[in-house]
Amino acid sequence: MYRRILEEALPEVRERIRRSAEQSGRSAEDVRLVAVTKGHPFEAVEAALDAGLVDLGENRVDELEAKAARAVGRRVRWHMIGRLQRRQAPGVWGLADMVHSIDSLRLAERLERTAPDEAGPLKVLMQVNVSGESSKAGIEPADAREVLGAMVEMNALDVVGLMTMAPFSEDPGVLRATFGGLRELQEQLRATVPAYRGTELSMGMSNDYEIAVQEGSTIVRVGSALFGERLR
Ligand SMILES: *Cc1c(COP(=O)(O)O)cnc(C)c1O
Repeated sequence: MYRRILEEALPEVRERIRRSAEQSGRSAEDVRLVAVTKGHPFEAVEAALDAGLVDLGENRVDELEAKAARAVGRRVRWHMIGRLQRRQAPGVWGLADMVHSIDSLRLAERLERTAPDEAGPLKVLMQVNVSGESSKAGIEPADAREVLGAMVEMNALDVVGLMTMAPFSEDPGVLRATFGGLRELQEQLRATVPAYRGTELSMGMSNDYEIAVQEGSTIVRVGSALFGERLR
């Protein structure tokens, strides 16, 4: 079933990414598609890998762990995109290739402290609450410089960029302001935090990835537009 869903959806999503990238003077290769398999059975993972997708996203450590165990031996990069409780944080070591959701300095510190000796630096993104909604996770833009300054000093973490989530809104102006805001923050932080070399902007989901790419996204996290509605 997932094979058939993807056969239809994937070319469409890729084409929309390509068009949006061109609108921002870039090419499709500048935008990484993370296929979000959360809430779908392992069959969705298999279909995605068979379709040539390599970057897969999950938002819970237990689900990521279970799917990764079944995908052993396949070429796959796992992205942890969901809120991470500090006590679950150590679970991502050896499991996730990139953690998008570092939303507090304490979480970063916990990861730094629990890094296994043999682990290489873990690629992480600092999640910023650009829209300022109280329901949203993420570091406040006003605190971003200080938190990032501390994160770039951590040996176990490689801060490769920033992540944000837009408000649930149909208003393209609101979405554009959020994504453009993260892009501007990236430029400010690169200019003011000397050790920071991050280039990634993880922004854009099924409903808003085209605007996000137009605004400079380098990683989109797309679930339902690829796999249909989630089962939970
Ligand atoms: C679920 C989720 C997505 C994908 O959402 P869709 O609307 O299904 O594309 C992207 N990012 C995060 C952080 C998520 O939790």
